[in-house]
Amino acid sequence: MQHIALLDCNNFFVSCERLFRPDLKHRPVVVLSSNDGCVIARSKEIKDKGIPMGVPYFQIKDTLQEIKAVTFSTHFALYRDISKRVFEVVRENFDTVEQYSIDECFINFESDTPLEVIKVLKEQVERQVGIPVSIGVSSSKTRAKYVNGVAKKTNGLAVWSEAEWQERAPHISLFEIWGVGRGRNDEFKKHGLTTVADLCKLEQRVVGKLFGVEGSRLHSELQGVSVSAVKRVVSAQQSIMNTRSFAKTTTSLSVLEDALLYHLHEGAKDLDAMNLSARKMRVLIQPSRHGDYVLQGASKELTFAPTKDLFVLEKVALLLLQACFKPEVPYKRAGVILSDLVGAETETLNLFGSKERSVKTESLTEALFSINTKHGKGALQLGRLSSKTQAWGVRKDSESPSYTTSWSDVKTVLAK
Ligand SMILES: [Mg+2]
Repeated sequence: MQHIALLDCNNFFVSCERLFRPDLKHRPVVVLSSNDGCVIARSKEIKDKGIPMGVPYFQIKDTLQEIKAVTFSTHFALYRDISKRVFEVVRENFDTVEQYSIDECFINFESDTPLEVIKVLKEQVERQVGIPVSIGVSSSKTRAKYVNGVAKKTNGLAVWSEAEWQERAPHISLFEIWGVGRGRNDEFKKHGLTTVADLCKLEQRVVGKLFGVEGSRLHSELQGVSVSAVKRVVSAQQSIMNTRSFAKTTTSLSVLEDALLYHLHEGAKDLDAMNLSARKMRVLIQPSRHGDYVLQGASKELTFAPTKDLFVLEKVALLLLQACFKPEVPYKRAGVILSDLVGAETETLNLFGSKERSVKTESLTEALFSINTKHGKGALQLGRLSSKTQAWGVRKDSESPSYTTSWSDVKTVLAK
């Protein structure tokens, strides 16, 4: 029988931090967003205290101190590297794996004993990488996503048969279902639909009429008919966003360029790690949310042939920045969003039939990333970017060492 599994790493960023700090195993741990602004990952102990996701750090600083929580600044180089290791183990065992985010993937597999299969996978990931995972199995992505939530609340493994779905569907609120936001849920409610069973009872034709193509797809997926196949890629809809507030405002174009290129490099590293190319880039610069310039922020987007070539991406970023920049505005934030992501092997021919991508600069990009992986972050950089003159200041008060990506940070273990 065919199955779809969703594997999700538990409290991923926290688990990455704990990997090298076993002393933190049962201690409350939070990871803060860039610039130490707000909470982006929580250990179970933090969740149990009722501290919500996304809450500004300053609001909970005292509570965290009281419960002796350990706080980390976000450390994407570490998380990316651990993520890569997790999915390597998954891909070694399965052919059809769709990486959905830094810590989640869908897997399509055939087996008469699915629980056995995912039990082995869970043990393998946890033994080889050390990151705890939860796996939920069902017959469509939407169902698998829900069952994964069930798995998380128990021992990390759950397989729901058709009979089980039928039995539980009257007790599952539509609002708990993946892809059902507040707006969609309100629409359902207007028609008296609150549970999965309510929606599934309707005929497909009626659902299509009331809620359009998206509603109709959801209806099928919840009935266990998979309309969104597991693709052997990282999800195409995904985008990579890197943006950050500055410690102080700036009116200097060169400071903005510096900040933007820093973000671009972070984004390009993600592309490289997932073997993707981007087709679209958006650059945004914003003044402080308070004050006279609040409406003077700008963002511009450009679509181009798919690339992960840093040299091309840099040119685009700087062009977009110039189009956004106004010298009189004190800027407080800059960022880059890479989107419309496709597998890096996708080739696009230009008008004259030749490849748009330059093999030379592309292999240079690859070399740059591999040198930086070997010899530490920023060992080799393009001329424009110099981390020593970052006047815009990245604040990372408590970043963990680069245990897996920098030789100088590798942990020392003493054996007696
Ligand atoms: Mg997760």
